[in-house]
Parts: sequence; structure tokens; C-alpha cells
Amino acid sequence: MRTPIIAGNWKMNTTLEEAKALVRELMAKGLGQDAGVEQVVCPPFISLSAVAELLWGTPVKVGAQNMYSESKGAYTGEVSPLMLSELCQYVILGHSERRHIFGESNQVVNAKVKAALHTGLTPILCVGERLEEREANRTQEVVVGQVQKSLEGVTLATGKGIVIAYEPVWAIGTGLAATAGDANQVIGLIRDTVAHIYGDSIAVEMRIQYGGSVTPANATELMAQRDIDGALVGGASLKAEDFMEIVRLAGRAKG
Ligand code: PEP
Repeated sequence: MRTPIIAGNWKMNTTLEEAKALVRELMAKGLGQDAGVEQVVCPPFISLSAVAELLWGTPVKVGAQNMYSESKGAYTGEVSPLMLSELCQYVILGHSERRHIFGESNQVVNAKVKAALHTGLTPILCVGERLEEREANRTQEVVVGQVQKSLEGVTLATGKGIVIAYEPVWAIGTGLAATAGDANQVIGLIRDTVAHIYGDSIAVEMRIQYGGSVTPANATELMAQRDIDGALVGGASLKAEDFMEIVRLAGRAKG
């Protein structure tokens, strides 16, 4: 059985003080209590240290939202996997905002995946098609291509080494989530792709999340799907009540 994983991507929101206040509020509402779900928060870089300190000794994991692929050197403004490894267990890589606003290619994402794994961080690798690609019936080709290229030359001893997040770009921050059936179908396809590369046992172990306008209103239906192993949550992760409700609903749907 795969333990579902719910991760909150705070994006470029919260000052240091706001981040600390949000963690305290989340903890007051049950963050870290056993819900049968792995719980992860991904604050902005500058709050990672404070958030990690507040969560020290709890089962809650901390994730970064991005990183560079080199461990140190003359890369002004970048943050390395080595730096993150002191503070986090997870790192979101290839988020569609990184791909489409900052021009990250599959090749760049691939280098980051390798660097994260090399440093002991678990990547949450994001893939997903844009609206025009979906409308042109290219979802399968785009998503499978992103998975294959982002994992090219990546060695995995176990399926637990990576989490994949299927996030259709048109569903992110729009309030328009994919239907549970559609999301499950694409995630099944991603699992087949992983099986093709690494074999069935790794594919069966690997957790594949859905992301895109997940809220307490749609979490149960999405999480009840066989192949969906949790969610990457953006907007709703900034509302403590909603995030914790999604965690509880995921636990119940999978329990
Ligand atoms: C995200 O940023 O990964 C995301 C899924 O955002 P939202 O939940 O707001 O759509």
C-alpha cells in the first residue's frame, strides 16, 4: 500500500512572520497528527529554516519549491540541494510555473532531479499539459514525454525515491480541477510510463499525486481514485482549515 502524501505549495506567499504564524495555525488544527497521510509543507526559501525549526520532532516534512542543480559555486541568487538538505526532505521540481514563467526545459528539470537525488532529497516532480495541448488531444504525448525526459538517466533503487505530481496547467489556480476520472486516467498512464522505465515493482511503489485546484469540496472524490496517491495543493494550502480538511479527507478516502 502506498501512503498518500499531501503537500502544500505556498508559492511566493507569506513573509517570514506570516509563514511562522501559518505553521502554528496548521499545528493548532492538527498538522502532524496521524491521519494516515504523509504531510508536507513547502514554504518560500527564506522561511524554510524557521518552518523546519517549528516542525522539528513532528512527522511533518518540509519541502522547497525549487533549487539549482549544482551543489555550490558562482551561481548568484541560486539555492543548492546541499543547502536544502539541512532543512528539507522534499523539493518540488519542474512546477509548471517554473517551466512556463521561467522557461525551465525538461533537460533542466532532469539535471535538478539527478542533483536532488544525489543529495538525498526526494523530488516532487511536476508534469502536466497546457490547455491548448489538451484541446489538441496531446495530453498523453506531452505528459509521457515530460516523465520520460525528466527521468532520463535517473537511477532509482525504489519507487519511494521520487513523487510525481500530475498537474494539468489549466487546472492550477483556476478553480477548475480535472475530473477525478480524467486525473486518475492520466496518472495511470504516468504509472505505466514509470513501469516501462523501471519495472512494475518500482511503479507500484511510486506515489503519484494530483494537483490543480484541490479543495475540501473535491478532495474526497479525487483521493478515492485508485491511482491518485495524494495531492499537491496550492491556494488551499494557505488556509489552515482547508489544508487540514484535505489531509483528513485524503486519509478517510484511502483508509
Ligand atoms: C500548485 O501550485 O501546485 C497548485 C496545484 O495550485 P492550486 O491548488 O492553487 O491550483
